[in-house]
Amino acid sequence: MSSRERVEWLAPGDLDEALALLAERGAESTVVAGGSFLGILMNQGFLEPTSLLSLQGVDALRGIRVGEDGELRLGAMTTHREVERDDAVRRGWPALADAFGAVASPRVRNQATVGGVLADADYASDPPAMLTALDARAVLRSPRGEREVGIDELILGFYETCIADDELLVEVRVPDAPGRAVYRKFRSRSTEDRPCVAVAAVRVGGTLRVVVGACAETPQHHPDVCALAGGGDIDAEVAREIGARYAERLEPIADSRGSAEYRRRVVAVEVRRAVEAVARP
Ligand SMILES: Cc1cc2nc3c(=O)[nH]c(=O)nc-3n(C[C@H](O)[C@H](O)[C@H](O)COP(=O)(O)OP(=O)(O)OC[C@H]3O[C@@H](n4cnc5c(N)ncnc54)[C@H](O)[C@@H]3O)c2cc1C
Repeated sequence: MSSRERVEWLAPGDLDEALALLAERGAESTVVAGGSFLGILMNQGFLEPTSLLSLQGVDALRGIRVGEDGELRLGAMTTHREVERDDAVRRGWPALADAFGAVASPRVRNQATVGGVLADADYASDPPAMLTALDARAVLRSPRGEREVGIDELILGFYETCIADDELLVEVRVPDAPGRAVYRKFRSRSTEDRPCVAVAAVRVGGTLRVVVGACAETPQHHPDVCALAGGGDIDAEVAREIGARYAERLEPIADSRGSAEYRRRVVAVEVRRAVEAVARP
């Protein structure tokens, strides 16, 4: 019998049951959301779990709603495709719909979830840079209680998060609709789904937030460089300067999508273009 035939499949019907099972099994059990990331790891033999805890039957983790405070709430089991196509998201947070819509193909987006893409903490993902720029927070719950963390606190490094063994990511909260926002995905290879460089820029009032993804272990945000924008219209020279400083400040990784030097040059251009797109406060 192969190890895969011996895998225990846990299918809780609600959130309390899921949390109780997770607290009981801890790191022995691997949480499965859409399974699109885990499936690859298992098929390639990088992961051989003995127990899988599926969140597919936990309806409380699905859905998109806008709270009375204007905050957008995305359940962890909401698929990328649902975010991309949701009317409220497209109206209030169109750049977020763009970022989720930029992931791979409809087939992947129908399976991959909001919780999964954050919990897997793959550096070359699209949504984390956009969610960081929007100042979103992830809600983590365990039988010990609930805590809210910024995306910059959630993602600690390559495939590493602050989610404890007994915690589930249950929801993502995105502040009230931003004035201007843009998501730019740069692919370097025609066969490649994942970004070589990802840039998200948001302008709320006069404040600019630019976040670069896919170039380092975690999404990169430099508030002091963003402050060069000032509070009014950003002219072409300042946009260029912000792009140049991001490129200087980053220590880009090198992988099959591009060398460090190549990424640095792309970052300078893509950040400039993103800043130009949100130039008016
Ligand atoms: C062919 C292909 C192309 C892709 N291209 C892109 C791309 O272009 N851009 C991009 O951004 N991404 C891309 N992805 C990645 C895809 O978005 C991820 O595989 C996906 O986001 C993972 O989501 P999932 O719901 O399937 O997670 P799963 O595979 O089920 O889980 C991923 C990890 O997160 C953990 N986890 C999941 N949900 C929770 C939760 N609620 N609480 C705690 N832990 C949890 C799991 O234990 C596991 O460690 C691609 C994937 C594939 C297969």
